[in-house]
Amino acid sequence: MSFAFVAADLTARRAAGLYRHRHLVEEAEPGRLRLDGRWYLNFSSNDYLGLAYSPELQSVAESCARQHPSGSGASPLVTGHLQAHTQLEDYLAQQLGRDRVLLFSSGFAANQAVIQTLMRHGGRILADKLSHASMLDAAQHGPARLQRFRHNDAGHLGQLLDKTKDDCLVMTEGVFSMDGDQAPLAKMVLRVNDAGALMLLDDAHGFGVLGNTGLGTVQAMGLDQSRVPLLMATFGKAVGTSGAFVALNETLYEYLLNFGRHYIYSTAISPLMAALTLKSLQLIETQGWRRQRLQDNIQLFRRLANQAGLPLMESQTAIQPLLVGSVTRTVQLAEYARQRGVWLTAIRPPTVPPGSSRLRITVTAAHEQAQIKALVKVVAGGYALGQ
Ligand code: PMP
Repeated sequence: MSFAFVAADLTARRAAGLYRHRHLVEEAEPGRLRLDGRWYLNFSSNDYLGLAYSPELQSVAESCARQHPSGSGASPLVTGHLQAHTQLEDYLAQQLGRDRVLLFSSGFAANQAVIQTLMRHGGRILADKLSHASMLDAAQHGPARLQRFRHNDAGHLGQLLDKTKDDCLVMTEGVFSMDGDQAPLAKMVLRVNDAGALMLLDDAHGFGVLGNTGLGTVQAMGLDQSRVPLLMATFGKAVGTSGAFVALNETLYEYLLNFGRHYIYSTAISPLMAALTLKSLQLIETQGWRRQRLQDNIQLFRRLANQAGLPLMESQTAIQPLLVGSVTRTVQLAEYARQRGVWLTAIRPPTVPPGSSRLRITVTAAHEQAQIKALVKVVAGGYALGQ
């Protein structure tokens, strides 16, 4: 057949040791999962508050299922926009003090919609070098010119902003997905607002976790919500469900509703999932102990890992990567941990730059202290062997 590149690309990927696989999770509970009949401690999940498998959310799921249909049956502008969607949108808009919220089936789709729609006439996109694939892909597929600023470098962003007269969208992440570090948002919004550019913040890993009621990076940094006109977050991580939202002002909302092809031509998210997501958001707001427990677990992990001499990155969030460097060693270390009952994921290029392969360890509120101690013991044992 033609498409000769299919076999060639797969062969090359295998030869580079970068072949990807997925694993069937047979069963899971807070902090643990079972694969191939064996239970592991799960330090690879983005369920940061331990909500996805919580008995509380599972029990409300049953009542949501009785009250709401499983599918919306149409796109939102046809007949797919239902009560459960408005209730969730209104709750979020009110909590965030925003005009409007729009729901999407995933964070990936939400980023595509915002970026492609607002940049459909061209202009300039300035993106942090480490921005997520969903933002970079969208930025590369339209007529706008994409420039990347050095990671978390507000000064470099300022220089690029000074040079542009075009309509300009600036995008970054509240918490970086593979490094766990945080954007210097206060400095960035000053420059972005001064330049008359628009800011899109992807807070996939901050929403639910950061801020005193879990509203994310903007709340945690004490900034006014209006400084970040476009806020995107997914429900698939700390919220423990699936889907995503974008919070925005009335005009941008109208624009996305009229021109956002990912919104207009896609089935509205499951009303059952929207109702469950609202319940989860209410738990997030009231159960501050989940955020506190997560913080305690992060601090415990960092203290123990430092004592064990593990090279942690500068992260204060739930994402605590252990930088290993070579692909082979990272994969070996993940395998070593798995053999000892700890599930860790090796993150390799092209997800991260060459030479910076790592174990992306995620600590959650669901972990017991003893499990974190066990994790550090296993990882330190494996790390020492490779020295
Ligand atoms: N942005 C970031 C920073 C992410 O890490 C992810 C998920 N990997 C997404 C967007 C996409 O969100 P979703 O999983 O809901 O598509």
